[in-house]
Formats: sequence, structure tokens, C-alpha cells
Amino acid sequence: MEDNKVVLITGGTRGIGKSIAEKFAKEGYNLVLNYVSDNTQVKELEDYFKNFGIEVLIVKADVSKYEECENMVKQAIDKFSKIDVLVNNAGITKDGLIAMMKEDSFNKVIDVNLKGTFNVTRNVVPYMIKKKSGNIVNISSVVGIAGNAGQTNYSASKAGIIGFTKSLAKELSARSIRVNAVAPGFIDTDMTNVLSDKVKESIYSQIPLKRMGNADEVANVVYFLSNEESSYVTGQVINVDGGMVM
Ligand code: NAP
Repeated sequence: MEDNKVVLITGGTRGIGKSIAEKFAKEGYNLVLNYVSDNTQVKELEDYFKNFGIEVLIVKADVSKYEECENMVKQAIDKFSKIDVLVNNAGITKDGLIAMMKEDSFNKVIDVNLKGTFNVTRNVVPYMIKKKSGNIVNISSVVGIAGNAGQTNYSASKAGIIGFTKSLAKELSARSIRVNAVAPGFIDTDMTNVLSDKVKESIYSQIPLKRMGNADEVANVVYFLSNEESSYVTGQVINVDGGMVM
């Protein structure tokens, strides 16, 4: 297990992040999983993932806080000596129309989604540069491309992630580090379960495949972008959205 590759997944204990963790675990990666809330069953999750025959480190850290990210990456390096793949997945929504949106709702979403992506990446990249290899996959959203009423904060954060991804891909290509983004559409997780059936139905009508996606369908694309199968792909945004945005 010491020779296994290592993936760090932020927000990796539920939703899309957990599916990504399961995909990498099945492929034999050791896992560093991050979460922020108090109610995560850390011991149960550790046991669950160890059943895949891999090692796992679960770290509580708020990605919007730089020092907590620095400390998380240090713990990962202390345990595994390297990080081969970084998946910046942690994200939140605080939806509202602009005329009603509180400044705090704007700041919080930018801080977690966009600044959080910087905070973790900034601390991981020096280790990837040192070993001249690595893969980074950032989770954006189709609303970062197409926009969505009621989500100025969220779509700005997700559009920011796309710019960040492309700039970083250009910066790091000479070091054999690839950087890509995945833009999910409407995926069945806690984040979308808050929507009413009426809202869900109206969204389905805008999706050519006429259904929500599931988290495993996102995880498969993240895994593809993280290994040699995609060796000539960098700086790209791949939509996983049932054709919602073309
Ligand atoms: P989710 O079920 O709400 O899970 C969000 C994850 O992010 C949780 O693991 C949560 O940790 C973690 N997180 C939130 N704030 C954090 C912070 N400050 N520090 C560290 N971790 C934090 O969401 P999801 O649907 O799986 O979404 C995952 C990613 O996909 C997000 O970036 C989201 O924007 C993006 N996305 C989702 C959809 C969709 O339809 N679901 C569509 C497009 C893009 P705790 O468990 O500790 O709270």
C-alpha cells in the first residue's frame, strides 16, 4: 500500500466527493479526505474505505481558511510523503436574487468555492513541482459557464474556478502537471435535494437526457482526467450535464 498513488479530495466524505473517493479507492489509491462539519462519522468512514484495501486519512479543515489547508496538506505529506492527485471538490451554495443577497452570502460562497480552491492548491503544488508530476481536477459547474438567476455568487465562484484552472494549466505544464475542471450539471446530492419537485421537473425539461445525473457519473470523468488515459488533456473544462449546456 506504500507504493499506492495518493489522492486528496476536499469535501470528500459525502455527495460527489464521496463518489470520487470510492472511484479512486476501487482503483487502489490511498485517500486523504477532507470535511468541515461536526456530524461526519469519521471512524465509520475510515473503516468503510479501508475495506477497499487502501489507507485513508480523514482531515477536518475549512478550505476557506488558509492555515487549516496548510495544516491538512502537511498531515497528508507526513502520512503518505506525496500527493499525486488533487480534487478541489468542496463547495457550497447560498442562493438568492441580487436585490436581496446579503454581503455575507456573497463572500462566504466565494471564500469556500474559489478561495478554498486556491488555499488547497497553493499548498499542494510545491510537492507536485518537486516530483515533476501530478494532476489537479477542479469541480466547477455549468452555471459558471451559462449563469443562473439567483446564483450570482455561486456562478461567479465557479467561473472563477475555470479561469484559475486554465491559468494554472499554463503555469504548470512545463512541470508535467495537468490541470482540468469538471462542470457538473444537475446532480443528485444533498445540494440539490433541497429543491422542490416542481423546480426539479422544470430543470429536467432543460436537460436533453431528461434526468438528473448521479455522483458516480461525475466521479468517472474526474478519474479519467486524473490518470494517463487523458495524458494529452490539460486546461479543459468537461461538462457532465446530460447535454444541459452545449
Ligand atoms: P454536497 O453534497 O453539499 O457536499 C459538499 C461537500 O463540501 C461536503 O463534503 C462538505 O463537507 C464540503 N464542504 C463544504 N464547505 C466546506 C468547507 N468550508 N471546507 C471543507 N469542506 C467543505 O455537495 P455536492 O453536490 O456533492 O457538490 C460537490 C461539488 O460539486 C461542489 O463544489 C458543488 O458546487 C459542485 N457541483 C454540484 C452540483 C450538483 O448538482 N450537486 C452541480 C454542479 C457542481 P461537510 O460534509 O463537512 O459539510
